This record gives sequence, C-alpha cells and structure tokens, in this order.
Amino acid sequence: MAISRDDVVLWIETCAAVMAGERAYLIELDAAIGDADHGANMDRGFRAVMEKIQGIADQDIGTILKTVGVTLVSTVGGAGGPLYGTFFLQAGMKTLGKMEMSLLDWTAALGAAVDGVIARGKAEPGDKTMIDALSPAVNALQQAIEANETLAQALKDSAEAAKRGMEATIPMVARKGRASYLGERSAGHQDPGATSSYLLLKAAAEVWAKD
Ligand code: ADP
Ligand code: MG
Repeated sequence: MAISRDDVVLWIETCAAVMAGERAYLIELDAAIGDADHGANMDRGFRAVMEKIQGIADQDIGTILKTVGVTLVSTVGGAGGPLYGTFFLQAGMKTLGKMEMSLLDWTAALGAAVDGVIARGKAEPGDKTMIDALSPAVNALQQAIEANETLAQALKDSAEAAKRGMEATIPMVARKGRASYLGERSAGHQDPGATSSYLLLKAAAEVWAKD
C-alpha cells in the first residue's frame, strides 16, 4: 500500500481539525512553561493552510507539503512557526514530483523534516522540545522497515513512539526555547511542541493506516 496525494491532503485537513480541537489543550500546556500561545499559533497556521489547500490539491505531494510549510512560516510566528515551516518544507523537498509515497518515501521525508528542525533549532533529544517526539518517530519507522512491517503497522509504531517521546518530556528540564528560561521549574510539565508533533503523527497514522 502507498500513501496517495489525496491521502496527504486528507492528513493536512485532519491536522487542521485536530489543531482547532486541541487549541485549548496546547494553550494550557504552553501556559505552564511558555507564553500560552502554542495552541493559538498552530490553529492560526493550519486555518491559513486550509484556505490554500483546495487550490493546490491537484499538485504533487512535494508541492503540497512545501505550500503548507511556506504558509506556516508566514502565519504561525513564535518558535513554532519557523520550525514547523522547516518541517513541512523539508518533507516537501524530499517528495517533489511524487504522486504517492511508499513507507520508504515517507520515512525519508519525515527524516529530512526532522533533520531540518534540528539544523534550524539546534535542539537535541532530551532538551524538552518537539524533537523528543519527532526523533523517536523516525527511528520507529526505520525499525519498521527493517522488520518488514506493513505501512499501517509502521505508522502506528511511529505514532506510539512519538507519544512515548512526548510523555518523556514531562520530567525533563528545558534547554531550548522559552521554557528553558524557567530552568528547573520547567520540569513536571509536558512540552507543548512535542505534543503538537505527536498529534500530527497520530493523525497520519489514523488517516493513512489502511492496509
Ligand atoms: P514560542 O516559544 O515562541 O511561544 P510556540 O509556543 O508556538 O512558540 O512553540 C513552543 C514550542 O516550540 C516548544 O514547546 C518546543 O517544543 C518548540 N521549540 C522551541 N524552541 C525549539 C528549538 N530550538 N528546537 C526545537 N523545538 C523548539
Ligand atoms: Mg509559546
């Protein structure tokens, strides 16, 4: 089974619905260790994406993902805007011209997306950022490929790895971003960006898991 261009559009639309639905939750998480805007930022960004998506839904996957990235950069603001913008831009670069993605293609795209976020934000695993959800998700996809898993199982594995990574941010002391200003007081709270990253990958698993 492969992930079609229409599947990618459906994923993006689902992400927009999820960010609207989880807006208050992401705001609450960011209120504890940041400035209480992460939910509003993500919702605003994906609302802008929703205004563009039907106009580009007949393009290739790379063009669609790049358009999402450009839109997020110009509408999200804060730390999350450029980082999620880079995420979707890099995923788009890896999938330019593609009308469908295999598990290998998605793994390469997500890997490039996460490498882009790391290059831009300089966060390492353990710094209490979105990287703590994203990196384990890429590793899980790579392991799923080695184990010859189905696409559906691989996507489930990556979403579960992201969930564990998100939960693992709770005891961490933040070393990057606004939460790092709190030092030790950032411990005991789940990172908002790791949470939104998990939500994106959970949506992918739900929308694309069909084999
Ligand atoms: P801001 O911090 O500017 O208010 P948001 O609230 O939208 O922006 O996003 C905060 C999230 O961004 C954090 O929870 C964290 O996951 C992520 N983040 C912040 N700095 C970095 C970084 N350098 N690398 C990766 N992720 C980061
Ligand atoms: Mg914030």
